[in-house]
Amino acid sequence: SSLITVDQLKKKYGENEALKGVSFSLVEGDFLSIFGPNGAGKSTLLKLLSAQTRPSGGKIYYGETEIKDLTDDFRSKFGVISHLPFLYESLSAYDNLKFYAKLYGVENIDFRIKEILDIVELTHRKDDLVRNFSRGMLQRLSIGRALIHNPDIIFLDEPYTGLDQHASNILTRILKELFSHRKTIIMVTHNLAKGYELSSKLAIIRSGEMVFFKEKDDVNDYEFED
Ligand code: ADP
Ligand code: ADP
Repeated sequence: SSLITVDQLKKKYGENEALKGVSFSLVEGDFLSIFGPNGAGKSTLLKLLSAQTRPSGGKIYYGETEIKDLTDDFRSKFGVISHLPFLYESLSAYDNLKFYAKLYGVENIDFRIKEILDIVELTHRKDDLVRNFSRGMLQRLSIGRALIHNPDIIFLDEPYTGLDQHASNILTRILKELFSHRKTIIMVTHNLAKGYELSSKLAIIRSGEMVFFKEKDDVNDYEFED
C-alpha cells in the first residue's frame, strides 16, 4: 500500500501556477528522483510534501492521513537536505548536531552524534567552529543534521549542487545506505547520472506538470533522454 499519495496537487503563487495538478504515489522504500528545468515546480513539490508550505488545491496523504492533519510526531519522521546548509556558525560541529538532536528529542544524544560524525566523516573536526568549515564540510554537516533523528522519509533539493568530489562521494554512499535500509527518499536533482544510478523511480516535472513518472526498471534510455 502507498506511503505517499499525491492527488491533483496544485500550488499558486499569486497568478503564477507553480504546480498544475500533480498526481503520483510512492511506497515505503521508494527512491524517487525528480528532474526538470529551473522554475518547473520541483522545489515547490518538495516543500509541499515536507509540509513547509500548503497546497492551493489537491491533496497529499501519508498512509491514510492527509498532510494537514499530520501530528508533530509524524513530521519528525521527515529529514530535509537542501543545498543551502542551515547551521550555526559560532558553534562547533558537535554542538550544532547536539542542538538539532535536542530539538528532535533524540535519545542517547552523545552516541548518536558520534555515529553521525562518523557517517559524514567529520569526527576529526567535531570541536571546530562551523565558521571555519569549507563548503564541502558544511554540506556534510548539514546532511548529518538532517539525519540525526533517523527520519523515515528524506527530502533532498539539489543535494549535489556545489559539492566537492569528497562530499559528493560521501553523499552517494549515504544515499545508498539509506535506500538499502528501506528509507523513502525523494530527491530533486540536475544530476541525471546520479539520479538514474541511485533511484527506483524517475519523474520529470515541466511547467508545473509531471510529464514523466516511471519505475526505473521500466525506463529505456532512449525514452528518458528525450
Ligand atoms: P524549481 O524548483 O523547479 O526550479 P520552483 O518550485 O522553485 O521551481 O518554482 C516554480 C515556480 O514558482 C517558479 O515560477 C518560481 O518563481 C515560483 N515560486 C517558487 N517559490 C515561490 C515563492 N515563495 N513565491 C513566489 N513564487 C514562487
Ligand atoms: P531552489 O534553488 O531551491 O529551486 P530558489 O533559489 O529558486 O530555490 O528560491 C529560493 C527561495 O525563494 C525558495 O524559498 C523559493 O520558494 C523562493 N522563490 C523562488 N522563486 C520565487 C519568486 N518568484 N518569488 C518569491 N520567492 C521565490
